[in-house]
Amino acid sequence: MDCLFCKIIQGDIPSKKVFENERVLAFHDIQPAAPVHILIIPKKHIPTMNEVTDEDDALMVELFATARQLAKELNIDESGYRLVNNCNREGGQVVYHLHLHLLGGHQMKSLAG
Ligand code: 5GP
Repeated sequence: MDCLFCKIIQGDIPSKKVFENERVLAFHDIQPAAPVHILIIPKKHIPTMNEVTDEDDALMVELFATARQLAKELNIDESGYRLVNNCNREGGQVVYHLHLHLLGGHQMKSLAG
């Protein structure tokens, strides 16, 4: 499968990993948009949020639990952080393998402006 993140999971493309288990991988974004910018992905290839099914319930919980744990370890839990999922073209998705962006380490603007 021609998927960048699947290649990272397989180790064909190197990444700076911060967490890995049988189901989830987290690594530094190559082009950080904040002082902390981690990508949290399922090892299962799910292209977008639209393809998540009820069967993935536990996996989705685990992605969020990983984000919570990493925020703590990276010391941004108290100051705060943002979790982002971009879905499809207008959502700004570039890599079609489901991922959460964990962003933190500086003040972010409210989406309400
Ligand atoms: P998207 O726009 O799909 O939500 O986010 C994809 C993210 O993947 C971007 O923030 C981009 O910087 C990151 N990215 C793209 N290619 C690579 C890569 O080869 N390695 C890593 N670590 N991140 C990448």
